[in-house]
Amino acid sequence: MTEAITVSIFGSTGSIGLQTIDVIKASGGRLSVYGLSAHSNTDVLSAQIADLSPEVVVVGSDQMAAVIKERFPKLRVEVGGEGLFSVAMEADVALNAVVGFAGLQVTLGAIEGGKRIALANKESLVAGGPLVRERMAESTSLIVPVDSEHAAIHQCLRSGYYQEVRRLILTSSGGPFRSYSENDLESVSVADALNHPTWKMGPKITVDSSTLMNKALEVIEAYELFEVDPRQIDVVVHPESIVHSLVEFVDGSQIAQLSRPDMRLPIAYALNYPERLEPVYGGLSYTDGLTLHFEEPRRSIFRGLDFAYMALELGNGAPTWLNAANEVAVDAFLKEQIRWVDIYRVIEGSFESFEKWTFSDFESVLSLDEVARRRASELVASI
Ligand code: NDP
Ligand code: MG
Repeated sequence: MTEAITVSIFGSTGSIGLQTIDVIKASGGRLSVYGLSAHSNTDVLSAQIADLSPEVVVVGSDQMAAVIKERFPKLRVEVGGEGLFSVAMEADVALNAVVGFAGLQVTLGAIEGGKRIALANKESLVAGGPLVRERMAESTSLIVPVDSEHAAIHQCLRSGYYQEVRRLILTSSGGPFRSYSENDLESVSVADALNHPTWKMGPKITVDSSTLMNKALEVIEAYELFEVDPRQIDVVVHPESIVHSLVEFVDGSQIAQLSRPDMRLPIAYALNYPERLEPVYGGLSYTDGLTLHFEEPRRSIFRGLDFAYMALELGNGAPTWLNAANEVAVDAFLKEQIRWVDIYRVIEGSFESFEKWTFSDFESVLSLDEVARRRASELVASI
């Protein structure tokens, strides 16, 4: 047998992380775990270490490192952002399933090491897009998207020439509030927002799905990954989450990728690319019939998409700002400090103090992220 592809799973204790372990275990030895990372969940990480025997783990704090070292004295343990960066340079593939801005260190580390990135962490592309592009230009690294829409587009693009692409069409489930009135949305709870109709995901992305901020981040992610004009990126609501996205070519022909909503499929695609391997994830059967619906997003109510196109037009750090303001607002909503509708107010209000920014290195992205977070936190406190 050929040697196994080594994989470090960053965010191994989360929703994507756990499903990645599933995919690796089912790979029949083709894929093997090299490193794991978690932020604070010591017990789940400990169970994973005992089960998978990684070479190295990255944890969120020195206290957590001390506990892990006590439990596994021979294991190499790294800490924080620097740990994420350096460990991402090591294995063949860095599966980036950290949530939020913190994932940027994984992406940059894997680029520095010239390694493959299986990218679920969209925030690193939204916040650090120009920096990631610049570093990628000098690296042998390859980004294969795990986000289901971008994995779909990645697959659809394989059926035509890049110059012949007319539009990328991202599908959106519409989230749990798709048919709510503006009035209904005034009083939705955290539990309502976490009740996603088709996908089972971590809390941050689930709230983002309910505001369409997830789709907003994905529009920017698509812009960064596929290098098209923002006007060539459209969004259509498709409540069944079977068509994961489409590419329209210049002759009007559209190519779509279909499967049941199961993230193990795009995870396996990204880990095994360019090959496709069994087992089957997300297989579809037509014996019971299959009905697919499509409709326009209600952008005047779900304002996330407008923010994305605005940020792309502004450029100069605006996507970084948008991501930071959204992270602060979602965190405050999950802690019940603000209402769901206030998420839009915090983002919009924060942009009143946005000033154009140029960044050349990680520190300048970090500074902009911090300024935006401070502004958004002030707005949260004033609500
Ligand atoms: P979860 O909240 O389920 O998991 C997040 C993971 O990141 C956990 O392992 C967590 O560790 C770790 N983590 C949290 N904060 C930090 C930090 N500051 N530094 C380092 N690690 C941290 O998220 P998901 O798995 O749902 O999502 C992960 C990423 O994948 C997100 O960017 C999301 O947008 C994207 N994605 C997710 C999809 C899904 O189906 N879930 C679909 C498409 C994209 P700990 O458990 O110790 O806190
Ligand atoms: Mg997605």
